[in-house]
Amino acid sequence: MKLVIIGPPGSGKGTQARMIAEKYNVPHIEAGKLLREAVADKSKLSDEEKNIMERGELLPDTFVADVLTIRLMEPDAKNNFVLDGYPRTLRQAELLERISRIDLVMNILLSPTEIVKRLSGRRSCTNCDAVYNVMINPPKQEGICDECKGALFIREDDRSGVIEHRIEVYNERTRPLIEYYEHRNLLVSIDGSGMILEIFDNAIKVLENRL
Ligand code: AMP
Repeated sequence: MKLVIIGPPGSGKGTQARMIAEKYNVPHIEAGKLLREAVADKSKLSDEEKNIMERGELLPDTFVADVLTIRLMEPDAKNNFVLDGYPRTLRQAELLERISRIDLVMNILLSPTEIVKRLSGRRSCTNCDAVYNVMINPPKQEGICDECKGALFIREDDRSGVIEHRIEVYNERTRPLIEYYEHRNLLVSIDGSGMILEIFDNAIKVLENRL
């Protein structure tokens, strides 16, 4: 299974991608995480690229494609993966097509009001990959990760002002992917509102129907 998950910021792409990858025991490849790791590695990324991420804008296509291509070429990703956060532009979709066949693209739908609610409540762990939402999915103890007891923090790009800008960037640069993949008969859409497990059950039904 080579699955791509797309959707606006805050639609729960990461959560669903992680759960789907776990269920089918395939690698979960998360563009944002790979790029944040590249930011942490100063030799790979300049301050300007770090600022781009903090402003909620997209990094240059060729840079992102290089990072993702290296990951997708690893042996574990040869036949199966759940790809989350890539592609985010038409150019990236074209570059992806050159290196890998895609079986299905799952588009998660969420209204702008719900997006703002989700992102403004998001808290990420400083230590592991866990993500919470103070309104929808709070940690047991405020500010502390349930999984590893690490401190939770608010990502720079989850702050008010940046969130709205990320939605604009999504509408302008990422939304055209819906039509791109529809034309290729690869697109399925699911409702991203509601409880995480309900969305997951629906995603699995849709997946098993199509694959
Ligand atoms: P995410 O964790 O998926 O929200 O990604 C965090 C940030 O990484 C984004 O706001 C972008 O600045 C950058 N980023 C992630 N994926 C991509 C991509 N496919 N293309 C360009 N920039 C990206």
